[in-house]
Amino acid sequence: MMQRHLQGSGMTSQRTRDRLIARLVEEGIADERVLAVMRTTPRHIFVDEALASRAYEDTALPIGYNQTISQPYIVARMTELLLENVETLDKVLEIGTGCGYQTAILAQLVNEVYSVERILPLQKKAKVHTELLTLKNIRYSYSDGGWGWEEYAPFDGILVAAAPSEIPEALLQQLAIGGVMIIPVGKQGGDQTLQRITRTESGFYVEEFDSVIFVPFLAGKE
Ligand code: SAH
Repeated sequence: MMQRHLQGSGMTSQRTRDRLIARLVEEGIADERVLAVMRTTPRHIFVDEALASRAYEDTALPIGYNQTISQPYIVARMTELLLENVETLDKVLEIGTGCGYQTAILAQLVNEVYSVERILPLQKKAKVHTELLTLKNIRYSYSDGGWGWEEYAPFDGILVAAAPSEIPEALLQQLAIGGVMIIPVGKQGGDQTLQRITRTESGFYVEEFDSVIFVPFLAGKE
């Protein structure tokens, strides 16, 4: 029964997932590692039952508490930018766990994921979802991600799923030398740009990619 639920059927079947992957390829996602993991990860278990039939549309969907599960294209794009120049990463910090879908994708591609969320009920849902998938290399923290996660720093990768107008200093400080951070930066509701920050021996190297729309990066816990 559980097997069937994970695998899905009809609008949540493997065939439907395959069509999403074909669409991501058309949209320019080229990293085979990312495509392979997204092909086999059931996105429908991360959303409410009532939305399961829409889980493989390439759109963001509501997950409650005014938040959304990121659009599959965005998850794929951020993950491929994170892994572009490396085989894998050891420690990755994720800010904005949400329902845990991006967390689950990362956990299958890197050694360890450290995921921070400021809304407790969402973190609880994410834990249930990633446990269903028996992913064991994830640690969760209920906190304001603006502080990063000092205890486990430095990180080889940081992926931020909410948009601040400026990159929090703690995140820059907790990035390892040679490490990369993928983050949407910009005003709330305004133009946000996906940036990749690489920490070098002497400073930070910034590249700009897609223009995007993310929920705001908020301070404090809810
Ligand atoms: N990758 C998630 C994205 C959820 S939306 C998913 O696909 O489900 C972004 C998330 O970032 C929300 O859950 C929001 O609560 C969280 N967030 C916003 N600001 C944050 C902060 N300062 N610290 C931690 N989480 C934050």
